[in-house]
Amino acid sequence: MQVSKNMVVAIDYTLTDVAGEILDTSDGNDPLSYLHGVGNLLPGLEVALEGKSAGQQLQVTIPPSQGYGERNEQLRQTVSRENFADVDDIAIGMQFQVDDDDGDTVVTVVEIDDDNVTLDANHELAGMTLHFDVTVREVREATAEELEHGHAHEPGCDH
Ligand code: ZN
Repeated sequence: MQVSKNMVVAIDYTLTDVAGEILDTSDGNDPLSYLHGVGNLLPGLEVALEGKSAGQQLQVTIPPSQGYGERNEQLRQTVSRENFADVDDIAIGMQFQVDDDDGDTVVTVVEIDDDNVTLDANHELAGMTLHFDVTVREVREATAEELEHGHAHEPGCDH
């Protein structure tokens, strides 16, 4: 059975950056199951998996445009430190959820001085070229319920 739209695909994967540093991996966990063709994976990864079958291994290099997008410096914003008056010990690297028109956005504190805090709303993998090492473990047809929900169901999960 080959990977195509509306198949549920289980993959093992390791994600590394251009320097070979591991950013994410399914190693040590169950394979990742996802519903193919509905945008649950990065676009570049779905394209590479199309037509593959169980047991196949692939290496995929994904440029930022097919991954988490280019960094957008306009997503950096400097706000008064007074906005964080109720946060103890604000520090670089802290992340906050912000409600905006697009739903929840995660912003990361990237600079702090006496008066201001600079926040960055770029995805932490934005602007990065990503290398995926993927092994296809299983390909099966999605159930009617999975198609209705738009995602794969793991055994024992009833969301
Ligand atoms: Zn569901």
